[in-house]
Order: sequence, then C-alpha cells, then structure tokens
Amino acid sequence: MGPSITDVTTTLRYLATGLVEWDSIEPDKRFQIPQSLRLGMSRMYATSRCVHASQTALTSKLVPTTLPELFEWAASPIKSWEPAQALLIIPENATLIEDGLVSDFAREWALSGSDSIHQIQEALLADLKNFCERHQFEDSYRKARELIVTHPVLTVAQLRKKLDTKELVKVRDFFKLDEGFYRPVADLFGGIEYHLCPRCGYIQRLWEGNYVCRKRSCQTIVRQEKLKPIKGIPGEKINEWLAVTPGVHRYGTIPGIWELSLRDELVNLGVGIKVTLYPQVDRYDLLVEFPNSQKWAIDVKDWSYVTKERLLKVRYQTDVDATFVVFPDSNDLNIPAIRQIKEFKPQALKGLQLKLVSEIIKQANKIIKKCEIQPHGTNP
Ligand SMILES: [Zn+2]
Repeated sequence: MGPSITDVTTTLRYLATGLVEWDSIEPDKRFQIPQSLRLGMSRMYATSRCVHASQTALTSKLVPTTLPELFEWAASPIKSWEPAQALLIIPENATLIEDGLVSDFAREWALSGSDSIHQIQEALLADLKNFCERHQFEDSYRKARELIVTHPVLTVAQLRKKLDTKELVKVRDFFKLDEGFYRPVADLFGGIEYHLCPRCGYIQRLWEGNYVCRKRSCQTIVRQEKLKPIKGIPGEKINEWLAVTPGVHRYGTIPGIWELSLRDELVNLGVGIKVTLYPQVDRYDLLVEFPNSQKWAIDVKDWSYVTKERLLKVRYQTDVDATFVVFPDSNDLNIPAIRQIKEFKPQALKGLQLKLVSEIIKQANKIIKKCEIQPHGTNP
C-alpha cells in the first residue's frame, strides 16, 4: 500500500516547519538541525521506501538523506517527490526554498499546522489591532496600516511629521524606534548599498549579483511589469533612514499593497461608490458601499495555496449583501486552485464567494453603471 495523503501532508508540514525554524536560527548556530526538519527527513525517507516497496521497479528518484541534499531538493518543485503528486492543492511549481530563502509556500504551509509562528511575526500588528479595538480608534488603525504600506522606508523627519497628525498621535507608542514598526535601516540590514524595490519600496537584498525584493511574489511582479529601478538610499545618509521590520513588511506592507490598490480601483469606478479600508478595526479588508445601498465585504488573500479549510477561516459577514474572498490575478500559483475550488457551491463555503481582482472590478462596474442610468431612466 502507498502512503496516505495525510502521511504525505504531515511529512511536508514537518519539512516546511523545520525550514522556517532553520531560517530563523542565527547563521553561526545552524549546526543545530531543528527537530521538525529531522523528523520530516526521516518520514520522507520512510514514505519513499514504502512507495518503492509497493512498486516493483525503482522508477522514482532517491530522497535526500543529508542536509545539503535536502536543501537542493527543497529548491526544486515539491511535486518532484513522487508521493506529493497526489496532493492536488500543491501548485505544480511550488518549492520549499526560493532564491535561497524559505518560500512563501513553506511559510504558509508551516503556519497552517500551528499558529505560533504566525503570531510571533504579526505580534505587533495584532497588538495595534487590539489596542485600537479597545479604544475604538478606527481611524488611527487605518492610518497606521496605510503608513506601513505606502512608506515601508522613510526618514526620521518624515516619520515624525506623519506622527504629528490627530490619528497617528494616538498610536505613536507603536512607532517607538526600539520596539515599534520602524527601526533604523542600519540596525536591520548590514551593507553599504541600499536599493529599494520599485514596487513595494522596501530595502532589497543581494541575490546572485542582483538586488531583488525580499518577497519573491513582489519580485515576480517587478519582473513581469518591467518596473524601472528607483532611487536608493545614499550610504552616507543611512543613519537618517528607517524601515519597517521584515515581519511587518511581509505581513503588513505586502498584503496591504493589494488592499490599497483594490480600494483605489473601486473608488475610481465612479462617483457614489464608497470604500472603507479595515472597517470596524479590521473586521475584514474592505467595505464597499454602492449608490443603490448594496454593500459588500471583501477580504483580499495573496496566498500561495488555497484549500477549503483555509477559506472557511474567512469570516462570512452577515450585515452586508455579499462576502467576497478576492485573489490577485497575478498570483499564478493560486489560479488553478481557485478554479478548482470555485466549483464548490457558495453553500459549501458557507456563503463566501471567490473572485479574482479583475472579476470583482467588473462586477462592481456593472452595479455602478446601473446606478448611473436609473436616476435618468424615464420610461416612455
Ligand atoms: Zn517588493
């Protein structure tokens, strides 16, 4: 008998968790192999032996048995490991390591097993949310989240000016330079050259002779849209510059770019459409209100893989006319899975409706057009 899907899922979960843990170990302490990585490797070995035993010919490749072999394998598609091919939800080209870093897929896959890593990475964002909920600082919450998205890198003087507004002054403790969203660039990243990503504006990293975004999906868009390099930070001025921490960039800036651009696209559809970002201190991402008083709740998800279980964690909103889960069109890892899951009826997803950004814009546009016609609609 071959390995069960649960076996393979668990093995991959151990490997992903192990790699995420490995990634967080200081480089000089990396001789300690995380327990979950060891477990993942031995399970992978056992599973493959089981596959080989059930087949008469040794057709599949051997599994990695040493750490260097594992790292080499982890940079190739997960599905190159034969037992993983049965897992339909894994995108064909997903890998555990990308450009020398733990992939988004590995991070999300590891997270779905336990919430602990997620909580640590987003602790400050969660604290901000709790604080603003408690004090009903809805506008302060929104402004703080927007700042992280629009200015992941800025100068000390610029930040000071931003904090001097009636919304942000209420949450200024979250911007302390030793424990807040922003830290001095020189403390976060060593180096002498500071290049910025032309899409998200964050400090890039050097990979194989090129400066690339720290977030692979962002770098993919930079490449696809052929975005021109932007002005970096001069090395001699570095002490004046601040940047959000890598965790805030990953969990605040990057998803926020989609949220803000969707808001802007919707608002630009026409007068009378009102879009509120993070309503009721982040109950969901966007509240859309149409002139005909129709209301939508939208959550934007830039996931590396989609499953029904993940979707069911999105809250269906009862006080609006429709709750949408919206995926960026450019996330080609997602598309096959979305198409597949879309075949589930909304009842199966407890009322959630799945859409690509382009589809939601089209649908919103139709409603706007109808609303524009009606006031002048004089029936003969
Ligand atoms: Zn970027």
